[in-house]
Amino acid sequence: VFTGQSLDRAELERKDEAWIGERQADPRSRAVVLSGDRVLIDPHDQHLARRPLPPTTSGDPPLLLGLEDGHAVFALDLPAHPDAADPEFVSLRDAGSIMPGPESGLAAYAMALAGWHRRHRFCSNCGWPSEVREGGVMRRCPNCGTDHFPRLDPVVIMLVEHDGRLLLGRRPNWPPRQYSALAGFVSPGESVEEAVIREVREESGITAFDPVFLASQPWPFPSSLMLGFHASSAGGEPRPQDEELDDVRWFSLEEIRAATAEDDPGRPLKLPPRVAIARHLIERWLRGG
Ligand SMILES: [Zn+2]
Repeated sequence: VFTGQSLDRAELERKDEAWIGERQADPRSRAVVLSGDRVLIDPHDQHLARRPLPPTTSGDPPLLLGLEDGHAVFALDLPAHPDAADPEFVSLRDAGSIMPGPESGLAAYAMALAGWHRRHRFCSNCGWPSEVREGGVMRRCPNCGTDHFPRLDPVVIMLVEHDGRLLLGRRPNWPPRQYSALAGFVSPGESVEEAVIREVREESGITAFDPVFLASQPWPFPSSLMLGFHASSAGGEPRPQDEELDDVRWFSLEEIRAATAEDDPGRPLKLPPRVAIARHLIERWLRGG
């Protein structure tokens, strides 16, 4: 989910501002439409809607996502939130559940880029209003000349295994019985492998070792990149170390396998939703991958 979109990002062409202007004026160009945390869908096939570009927009220009079948696709970030009851706008999380992977990947790309522009209108070096460049893959400050690029926040998320069991934790605000893989932001001056070991110790008191990277997922809520790992452990009694988790424990393979079937309130474990990489990592572990 949120991966696999195949747009040509037009990295070279987009350096030419005149070429971008031509794409904006081209009646064959299309836009995916965003508003707040929601995306416009085509109600017939539940794919992301592609709409003609409006002749003019206020504020920042539309963001050029790339080329699809040779024609430009932009992201159009609507300033006004649509009526909450409008079924053609769905949250990005819901889009991840209902759309094919590549369509949700395009939605995530559009939302990640538009979200960054919303939050970075001013130069972080001098405070001057900055301007969209290269169709939106950067902003430039006209006052001090600093270039700003979209930020990504790396997050490690890890299955910690000991003796055929997985270490899973739950946050206080989650639905009852729901547990997931431990996770946390990578800190400055730290490798992702070091972050895995530190986060496991901070959240559970358990010592993990030999982290191995498995898979990644864009997670634009608002700008994370999830980095999925498997790590080993010599076991021990896990305990929540701070307010972040209200429980952390080992689950057996049988408990986890049972939880992948239809959810049953009588079982001790409810797995995270399929939109999350944690679910993918857990199912992959069950398959022996
Ligand atoms: Zn500046």
